[in-house]
Amino acid sequence: MSERDTTNARTATDEQHTDATHDDTADDEFRSWTESSGTGTVNIQDLTKVYGTDGGELTAVDSMDLHIEAEEFVTVLGPSGCGKSTVMECIAGYLDPTEGEVLVNGDPVNEPDPSRGVVFQENRLFPWKTITENVRFGPQMRDAVDQSRIDSLFDQMGLEGFEDSYPHELSGGMQQRAELARLLANDPDIMLMDEPFSGLDAMTKELMQEKLLDVWEDDDRTVLFITHDVEEAILLADRVVVMTARPGQVKDVIDVDLDRPRDTDMVTTDRFNELQRRASESIHDEAERAMEQAEGRA
Ligand code: ADP
Repeated sequence: MSERDTTNARTATDEQHTDATHDDTADDEFRSWTESSGTGTVNIQDLTKVYGTDGGELTAVDSMDLHIEAEEFVTVLGPSGCGKSTVMECIAGYLDPTEGEVLVNGDPVNEPDPSRGVVFQENRLFPWKTITENVRFGPQMRDAVDQSRIDSLFDQMGLEGFEDSYPHELSGGMQQRAELARLLANDPDIMLMDEPFSGLDAMTKELMQEKLLDVWEDDDRTVLFITHDVEEAILLADRVVVMTARPGQVKDVIDVDLDRPRDTDMVTTDRFNELQRRASESIHDEAERAMEQAEGRA
């Protein structure tokens, strides 16, 4: 497993598991319930992540619980530094929790897996490979290239004509579409998206949001989408999870009862504005606290 913090996470995990005071029966019940859940369920159970830093231990996430249904679209909204990426990387299998665990389809996550595809703000396309080579890479590694599927992904993402281009020859929006095609080529059950559109200009961002909604509405996938943009969080989600400032915990869960299919025109409706106001109010104090933390005042 590739750990960002190679300092003492494993030791801390072992020690704290020994100290764990979980009720075994409750754990068994929880596990059997999650095991019966469909493909693409995520259970974040009592998740704590502590990083070792030069200044001592830093608790990024503290005892977080969250259940995500199969095929649900959940956005996670939180101020900068509140532990959003940490949670996502624990689900992806890039990071070990210090305490607690992440279950996917009822099984603990121990390592990365192509069934959990990850997209970051900066695309991870190989710059020395063409777009086609990038998109084929994952399936090729598993000896499972389906050319007709790859052709249809190029069509779906509007990438025809760019098959032999290199990433640097594409605009930012096209690069993110190629990144989505690369992710979808692996046919993931769960898409983990860490502020994938925040580096794009407003117009391109809107188009990408609509593209993602189309992709999600066509396929049966669970999406966990991190953002600090309130409007984006509501437009995309079935539920918006608002996180506290660090150490990150779930502060609020907002059910988004807007009709689907959705498009960016909905942001002017009364119901959208109501939900947006509620989410903004919920995150306001946390954003203030995060700013104080960043300035060393908290
Ligand atoms: P977010 O995604 O909400 O911005 P992160 O999960 O990236 O937050 O980080 C949460 C906190 O953990 C931040 O204070 C960040 O500086 C700290 N952090 C993240 N990664 C590491 C690391 N590898 N070592 C030490 N501290 C880290």
